Amino acid sequence: MGEHLDAEVIVVGGGPAGAATAWALAREGVDVLVLDRAKFPRDKICAEYLSPQASRVLSDMRVLDEIEATNPAHLAGMRIRAPNGHVANGEFAANHGFHGFRDKGLAIQRTILDEIVLRGARTAGARVEESMRVTDLARNGSARVSGVTVLGADGLRRTLRARYVVGADGLRSVVGRRLGLVRTSRIWPRRIALVAHYRKVKGVTDMGEMHVDYDGYFGIVDVGDGKMNVAVVVPMSRAKEIGDDKAEFLERWIGSRPHLAERFVGAERITPVRATGPFAAATRRAWSPGAALVGDAADFFDPFTGEGIYAALRGGELLAPYLVEALGRPGKDEGRILSGYDRARKREFGGKWKLERIVGMAIAYPYFLNNAAKVLSQRKDMADLLVGVAGDFIPTSVVLSPRFLFNLFISPAFRN
Ligand SMILES: Cc1cc2nc3c(=O)[nH]c(=O)nc-3n(C[C@H](O)[C@H](O)[C@H](O)COP(=O)(O)OP(=O)(O)OC[C@H]3O[C@@H](n4cnc5c(N)ncnc54)[C@H](O)[C@@H]3O)c2cc1C
Repeated sequence: MGEHLDAEVIVVGGGPAGAATAWALAREGVDVLVLDRAKFPRDKICAEYLSPQASRVLSDMRVLDEIEATNPAHLAGMRIRAPNGHVANGEFAANHGFHGFRDKGLAIQRTILDEIVLRGARTAGARVEESMRVTDLARNGSARVSGVTVLGADGLRRTLRARYVVGADGLRSVVGRRLGLVRTSRIWPRRIALVAHYRKVKGVTDMGEMHVDYDGYFGIVDVGDGKMNVAVVVPMSRAKEIGDDKAEFLERWIGSRPHLAERFVGAERITPVRATGPFAAATRRAWSPGAALVGDAADFFDPFTGEGIYAALRGGELLAPYLVEALGRPGKDEGRILSGYDRARKREFGGKWKLERIVGMAIAYPYFLNNAAKVLSQRKDMADLLVGVAGDFIPTSVVLSPRFLFNLFISPAFRN
């Protein structure tokens, strides 16, 4: 080899996926360099809720205590309101015999969370360079990825070399696009999200709330420090209508729904309204010679079911051992080793991917969601199971059984 390397592994992106990957690699003694275009603390458009199992990974990374010390909110479960007004409440701590790492999920501002998690990677030995935008991949004579081209804050472009490049650069990943691995589908929802922080919204409890309507859905959650994260997600086709005045659109959405409007009397919006979308993208495989993808760069479907932070953290944990193995066998068996990463992802997330698509369909066709909400409002046991699956501590097979799906979506039609 003999060529100068800037690191054994370069991780592009220092969000939860990049930080978890870098942490796990650094702990194994790998020389890892994280590059992020942002300067931390940086924000990320998100509803800022974490499943109970995310705390398990954060605990392993030794950052959970520091996160808890910032006074985040703790969520007991989720409340879902269907377009027909039926309300279902599902709680993490329930009588189904399954237990999460914690009984509650965290809700915390991303500016706080992501900085602490990235610091965890640094403490484990990863080097982190901020304000470094990766613009392209470098390749050696073969098609193999051998590094990245990066534009620094000084305006200079440089090439940095590594044995592996990890794309943890989120939605619209540069690494994923340059590798040609990202795919979208015409039948997947194309949606846009508007997100802001408020204070003094009435009636916000320790249940995260999702209000589904015929033209989109709305979420509200306490994120600690007296702040509430408020988000609305609508079809991309409404982007023109939203135009430049995102705040006006969000406030009109709230104002035109009496069950929300009354709760926002006297509330204060304390941040600008920010927008992102569309989201849904996946990869055929999450690696290529010399490179791998993790977190949103590898797949993201929709914020409704998007336990994306957990998937990003867990994805980093899954990927690291395969990279360590590949680093230990230079030039040998790379395809076999990294295919193992694809299989591990499928084992870990495959059920969730199926469930996400089923829920995505139910939102797109509210007839099904109305039916499901009616059942769940009367069957708390089923609501608890669904919320436990969303919380990543109940196997998806429990709710993907034909019987559960029949009871949820089909049987109400016969009872009507
Ligand atoms: C509207 C919305 C609401 C959501 N709500 C939730 C929720 O409540 N709970 C939940 O768990 N998930 C939620 N998600 C999903 C969650 O935000 C993501 O899944 C999660 O942030 C993925 O982490 P990541 O590390 O892969 O990517 P990110 O957190 O996006 O981090 C990517 C990092 O890469 C950096 N980067 C990007 N491009 C480059 C480049 N070219 N060069 C260098 N650095 C680069 C960025 O600066 C960033 O720091 C939501 C998503 C959306 C869109």
